Amino acid sequence: MPVVVQKFGGSSVADPDRIRAVADHIARTRRRGTDVVVVVSAMGHETDDLLHLAEQVSRSRPGREMDMLITAGERKATALMCMALHDLGVGADSLTGSQAGFLTDASHTNARILEIKPHRVRQVLAEGRVPIVGGAQGVSAARDVTFLGRGGSDTTAVALAAVLDADACELYTDVSGVFSADPRVVPSARRLGTVGFDELLEMTATGCPKPAMRSVEFARRNGVTLHVRSSFTWEPGTWVREEDPSMEKAIISAVTYDTSEAKVTVQGVPDRPGIAAALFRALADLNVMVDMIVQNTSEDGRTDISFTVPCEHLDRAQQSCQDHAGDLGATRVLGDDGIAKVSLVGAGMKSHSGVSAKVFEVLASRGINIEMISTSSIRITCVVRTERLEEAVQALHDAFELERPVV
Ligand code: ASP
Ligand code: MG
Repeated sequence: MPVVVQKFGGSSVADPDRIRAVADHIARTRRRGTDVVVVVSAMGHETDDLLHLAEQVSRSRPGREMDMLITAGERKATALMCMALHDLGVGADSLTGSQAGFLTDASHTNARILEIKPHRVRQVLAEGRVPIVGGAQGVSAARDVTFLGRGGSDTTAVALAAVLDADACELYTDVSGVFSADPRVVPSARRLGTVGFDELLEMTATGCPKPAMRSVEFARRNGVTLHVRSSFTWEPGTWVREEDPSMEKAIISAVTYDTSEAKVTVQGVPDRPGIAAALFRALADLNVMVDMIVQNTSEDGRTDISFTVPCEHLDRAQQSCQDHAGDLGATRVLGDDGIAKVSLVGAGMKSHSGVSAKVFEVLASRGINIEMISTSSIRITCVVRTERLEEAVQALHDAFELERPVV
């Protein structure tokens, strides 16, 4: 029998009615002659609630105990889903990550999967029952419970699809797929019928919130076809698969944005070997995540270096640059949290000229200033003022006619 993995996110199982609706969908899929392996997230905002609870109780919040706490959310959802299926006459067994064979390293709160031994999942399937696996969890070599991190249920689902050689991994959420832009910002945004792994990875890296980037990387590496779709409408969503090189591609697929970064500028650094190395080594040692980096051409042997970091790393990054400014001979360090990134992503960009010119013209025609630019072969990103971001997203979506279906 064909096998599909169906993963249901927190909003899909947020309350008793949702759990019963999902159980009904699983039962229908089985009646159509497909074996189903289910992965569930914690109900609604439970993960956030548990994190908040821990904050109120403790200042130290050791990783081992945090993982035991957080994974309880998914565990609860698996048991409830099984009960709902039993009521529909469908046999189902709940499995923790450990029972499902997820062996991980011991990096608590963000563990990595080392190996999957899905004997029990296979056994439950062989008995004609539905395995319901708790998402985002595993067990370490020391037999401690581990959590795979935020969004980790997507990774659980993709990993199971890979080891079970499933036909597809269906990621059910509260939106009906991957869109050409955030529909809250661009009401005319179009759901993409299909998107390639490379494009989706660029999109998730530049602000598209779902699916979790790590799961998309995992899916690409293992050739798992993803189907991102809604558990509220159940309509077909967006297929994510390896691009077919023989097919004509849309030049641009989507506009994404990200308001979570801030900019640091180090002014007047001497233009000689070792300056960037010293600056960024210090940041790396403080675990600051650096994203875009721009260095200007030098004038009189001095230049400016600007880079972006997550907003919550801004103070740390600014302080580190300040601490080294004297040694490096820099004149000034500036921090700026009023920036946002807007990105245009499309696999067809590779073989088309004029895309960046058009991006810059569109922004210029609105008087939107570009503060930084970075590109990959299938992406153009511009840093603009946060207050101009939504206008930039809408303008680019209009100019590239992304609401029009690709023929
Ligand atoms: N419930 C966890 C979270 O929201 C893990 C997951 O569902 O992916 O991050
Ligand atoms: Mg979730």
